[in-house]
Amino acid sequence: MEYSHRYSVYPTRQVAAELDRHIDIHRQAYNYTLYEYENVDADDIVSAYKHHSRLPDWKDEFPVFSDVHSKALQRTVTRFYQNLTGLFEQKQNGRKVGKLNWKSPREFQSMTYSQSGFELKNTSGRRATLWLSKIGDIKIRYHREIPDEAAIKEVTVKKETTGDWFVSFGLETDEADLPEKPDVDSLDTDNSVGVDLGILNYIYTSDGATVDWINLEDEYERLCREQRKLSRKEHGSNNYEKQRREAAKVKRRIRRKVLDYQHKLTTWLVREYDAVFVEDLDVKGILEQSHNARNKQAAAWRQFITLLEYKGELYGTHMVQVEAAGTTKECAKCSVETAKPIWVREHSCPSCGFECDRDVNAAMNVLQRGFAELGLGWPEDTPVETALPTDTTSVSAKRVVETGSPTLNEAAPAAE
Ligand SMILES: [Zn+2]
Repeated sequence: MEYSHRYSVYPTRQVAAELDRHIDIHRQAYNYTLYEYENVDADDIVSAYKHHSRLPDWKDEFPVFSDVHSKALQRTVTRFYQNLTGLFEQKQNGRKVGKLNWKSPREFQSMTYSQSGFELKNTSGRRATLWLSKIGDIKIRYHREIPDEAAIKEVTVKKETTGDWFVSFGLETDEADLPEKPDVDSLDTDNSVGVDLGILNYIYTSDGATVDWINLEDEYERLCREQRKLSRKEHGSNNYEKQRREAAKVKRRIRRKVLDYQHKLTTWLVREYDAVFVEDLDVKGILEQSHNARNKQAAAWRQFITLLEYKGELYGTHMVQVEAAGTTKECAKCSVETAKPIWVREHSCPSCGFECDRDVNAAMNVLQRGFAELGLGWPEDTPVETALPTDTTSVSAKRVVETGSPTLNEAAPAAE
């Protein structure tokens, strides 16, 4: 299974300058690959793998290419071919696309070490060091541990437009090293949970927990302020550029906080339960929101589900996506559908009289559909009423963070 972990890194000024220089050499290598691809007629310019064999000649001709790590240089050539494939696929899908262009420094801000030339060392608590060949040591804010059984396949170093540096580790855990999931027959309403992706709050679970979304009010206020300031600057001026960076920094902080929180939430779910069921996003209608807000929410959910998927594998928890249509309308007890507008917070079934909280009803439906997906019936001896939570509780973001974290080093809030 492949996944990735991303961290903030803090190179010294000297190392940062060296990273800048290397990335620029990689940019030139990328552009040169494009040049050769378009202008040189030779058998070895048809695939990344074959193109790699030209690199020794490059180095003879342009010694600067010897300054960077050779595997990383190969990886940049591969990156060109990956982009080419991506472009080709988009074309296949009927999208109108241009061709690959030369990258300006602004468009090329990362490099990847593949297989060798890097080492993660001195991991202790929330600190670690990344060593890169031909660069040196870089301090990492190691807020999330890389599991022992995971192999680090790649390390990508990236400079954001804010000037901050990040690394992303491409990780792989062997299927054989993943914990076994509990026997499907052992699943019941106590150890399994249906999760309704809520609109007003964050998630609701079939055992009655409402998990609040983290409070980002301050950040959003700040963002508004920075954007207002930006609108008053003269476009293209130095001050404009500076202010644009300020606004980008706040946006990035929001994104990072959201991701961090989703990590904690998903870890909490897979550790707390043997099976987690969520709605399939693609069909979940998000009501009465602007196009932009809807896209943002869909992106956040997709991220949430991706995290849940890989953590399910890592922790040996079943994770199943179920059909989302009608989870709110359908009665969890008798399946009769009743339309309810968004402001009706109670489910009260006109057919069988079953009553409960609207979101709990939806989460119960998700749970039932999850059991069905796994080929299990609803447990005979558990009437829906009995499985219902006796009262609904609101789980604060703080509690998720606290219960979800101690053994994972995910507890402390992200230092920005
Ligand atoms: Zn009913």
